Amino acid sequence: MKTPIYLDHNATSPLRPEATAAMTPLRDLPLNASSVHALGRMGRKTIEDARAHVAALTGADPSMVIFNSGATEGNNTILQYFKDARVLVSAIEHPSVLESLTHAVKIPVTPDGIVDLGALENLLRAEKTALVSVMLVNNETGIIQPVLKISSLARQYGALFHIDAVQGMGRIPLSLLEMGADFMTISSHKIGGPQGVGALVLGQCGITPVLLQGGGQEKKARAGTENITAIAGFGAAAQIALSDMVPYNETLSALRGKLEDGLKSIHPAIEIIGENQNRVCNTSFFILPGASSETMMMALDLDGICVSNGSACTSGTVKSSHVLKAMGYSDADSSAAIRVSLGWNTNEGDIEAFLRAFEKIIARLKS
Ligand code: PMP
Repeated sequence: MKTPIYLDHNATSPLRPEATAAMTPLRDLPLNASSVHALGRMGRKTIEDARAHVAALTGADPSMVIFNSGATEGNNTILQYFKDARVLVSAIEHPSVLESLTHAVKIPVTPDGIVDLGALENLLRAEKTALVSVMLVNNETGIIQPVLKISSLARQYGALFHIDAVQGMGRIPLSLLEMGADFMTISSHKIGGPQGVGALVLGQCGITPVLLQGGGQEKKARAGTENITAIAGFGAAAQIALSDMVPYNETLSALRGKLEDGLKSIHPAIEIIGENQNRVCNTSFFILPGASSETMMMALDLDGICVSNGSACTSGTVKSSHVLKAMGYSDADSSAAIRVSLGWNTNEGDIEAFLRAFEKIIARLKS
């Protein structure tokens, strides 16, 4: 198979070489950080080194980082802890928030894809709220949410604040404390670490929500033998994500600019979602009115190009986007949307190949 051109980093990013290098020597060793012998101690040190890197990337103290299996677990841990209380979540959250607590009250977003702060304040004023949960960056649109304002509103009304920071991590500077978050969920595989590992980062509210019980691991906050190899890969990916953030942003902003200029010259009717909003540098989500995203994605796939339609895709079934719906787009628009997401190994050649393939598709659709 020809190596695909991978432009779906918001779904998962390929392993960074630094993560592979950190994991390779550990993969075949029987490491259990709870053991007191030399290999156990080696496991413990590996975890603590990785914790320091993850803490640095999230602007937290290492003691605040609890490793887990990823952001789905992190989000479920928080939402389930507050299941008997009033919780507000934005309408554009990831399904691991929305489906973890289906009775949570939804905060609407504006047509620009930003949490409606006036509506949030009305909801906070209406009834005592325990938790507000809003993502830092939306995974479909790449639009950055006004988390500082949200956190100060939550605080003003005595609610705690949870941020799903998965899509912001490594793309914009993160500081759990400066953002005033009480809980933050992150995931390794969106920054070029391995899949199946992530962390819950705790702020200063003094509450440690626990989902998995039964072992003393992670200071009793998350039972289960740690996946030390994966944690080491996560730590290495976090380290490089932090040190590379500025050049990463410069490179990807330029590449995305080239992509979006190219798209608009191929078809002037293309609408780039959130084009004038504050977006992360790697995401471009666009609608070609009247087209079918499924047909476009399949044609791109045949040309070896991997993109997404941005909406929740479970076991290969494509649902229409709850994010676009919340922003007021029609089902027809939502089924004409394509998300291109760039990452650490994207280069100019990838963007050119995408644009060539896309131009061919458009020409075919017109004929
Ligand atoms: N939150 C957001 C915003 C995401 O994009 C994702 C991954 N698509 C998740 C949570 C779930 O993360 P994980 O794959 O680590 O369970």
